[in-house]
Amino acid sequence: MSLKQQQYINGKWVGSIAGNTRDIINPFNQEVIATVPEGDESDAKVAIAAARAAFDKGEWSSTPASERGTIVWKIAELIERDKEELARLESLDTGKTIEESRGDMDDIAGVFRYYAELADKDGGELIDSPVANSISRVVREPVGVCGQITPWNYPLLQASWKLAPALATGNTLIMKPSEITPLTTIKVFELMEEAGVPAGVANLVLGAGNTVGSELSSNMDVDLISFTGGLFTGKKIMQAASSNVKKLALELGGKNPNIIFADADFETAVDQALNGVFFHAGQICSAGTRLIVEESIHDEFVNALVERVKKFKLGSGFDEKTQMGPLISAEHLAKVEKYVETGIKEGATLAVGGSRPEDPELQKGFFYLPTIFTNCTTDMKIVQEEAFGPVMTVEKFRKEEEAVELANDSIYGLAGAVWTNDIVKAERCVAKMRMGTVWINDFNLYFPHAPWGGFKQSGIGRELGRLGIEEYTETKHIFQNLKPQPINWF
Ligand code: NAD
Repeated sequence: MSLKQQQYINGKWVGSIAGNTRDIINPFNQEVIATVPEGDESDAKVAIAAARAAFDKGEWSSTPASERGTIVWKIAELIERDKEELARLESLDTGKTIEESRGDMDDIAGVFRYYAELADKDGGELIDSPVANSISRVVREPVGVCGQITPWNYPLLQASWKLAPALATGNTLIMKPSEITPLTTIKVFELMEEAGVPAGVANLVLGAGNTVGSELSSNMDVDLISFTGGLFTGKKIMQAASSNVKKLALELGGKNPNIIFADADFETAVDQALNGVFFHAGQICSAGTRLIVEESIHDEFVNALVERVKKFKLGSGFDEKTQMGPLISAEHLAKVEKYVETGIKEGATLAVGGSRPEDPELQKGFFYLPTIFTNCTTDMKIVQEEAFGPVMTVEKFRKEEEAVELANDSIYGLAGAVWTNDIVKAERCVAKMRMGTVWINDFNLYFPHAPWGGFKQSGIGRELGRLGIEEYTETKHIFQNLKPQPINWF
């Protein structure tokens, strides 16, 4: 592997100060695929100081926005040039299929292009002034030093949603990828260096959440913390960020409802319900894990799901027949198993799955069979908490209002969907659904132009779209008096 496998601080590739390292494990067979530095608070402090100095020097923020856009565009081109290597690294590191990783790389290049194009599109705004002979204008400026923390499920995709808008708007940053999936992020820092991002502007620190992550969240020299990950961690970060009242962007979990009305296109709804929950083995924040089906088609719908689930091909992400790879780690597999045990204890009916596969070829990997529970009710833990694995719960409804009530009965509000051929009914439901993204007759689609984020405990703020750029800017009102006069009050 040509990868540097190091941290990138102030324009230099470095090991960790303490000399510690961490092995990165392939979740398909538990082989060590890389050994990377394990940074801690001291590495984070050095990186923060570099980002602070680079921001305070002002070179990057005062670089014409079009030039910053050109560099961000160049990053997209380099990602496309190295797409195959990046996709292979992502699949090795996460277990996801190579086809999915290639798709991720296209999306990631698209995110860099989108923000490259937006970089010079906001020249500020003149507003009406109540004072004669004056000019009042509003400009947007970079927030400053940004701490960025990402999860393991979409390592580079989640990183791109943070890196591209932060760079385009003239911030400096320190990124901490998930300690178990840092490889594609390291590679993209190599590409950012090649594209011409100046030293100190973008820094990469590797290591654990409770060391590097908590330093980024609490350090007084960090102006903004952008975090994607679980609710529990998000709450800790929110507390730590109060140290200097950091700007906060939180993309947290979801327990996303997928409502199926009897008048929906049956085959398409079955197919997309499966995709909505079992794609990437259910390790997706917006996975449609809570299926809410109209009673009149419930049995037929569940039977169709179960029949197809039984035929899923589990395996290596590099085998083109594979439809579902392993879970990310032994720890995560144990967590999913525990949730399934809880579901059984709570009285839900196991319709399919509920164990590790018996296939001898899969024994070294962290595999879990796609699992469907029926007879679920909203008071169950498996309906309320994120298992973040291939586990679907099914609830029934009779009336439209009941479906929406069930859908909204969650502390989360990330995403949801409605399947029906009655567009008026769909609109009625969507208007009442308390989620940041709602799909009508679709599931899981996202693209760079559309904002992404959650209602309720799914987070604060939005990534992607124009709002994604606003996260990384402060608004300044500048009032200029062209004919100053004494006031003569005192
Ligand atoms: P996690 O919260 O365990 O970890 C996420 C990141 O936070 C990692 O880099 C980790 O090292 C770091 N971290 C851990 N403790 C920390 C602390 N005390 N201070 C600072 N940083 C800390 O989440 P995960 O298991 O990596 O990812 C899965 C979660 O991410 C799920 O809940 C999923 O829904 C969520 N997610 C949300 C979105 C979204 O767009 N809303 C996208 C992807 C994943």
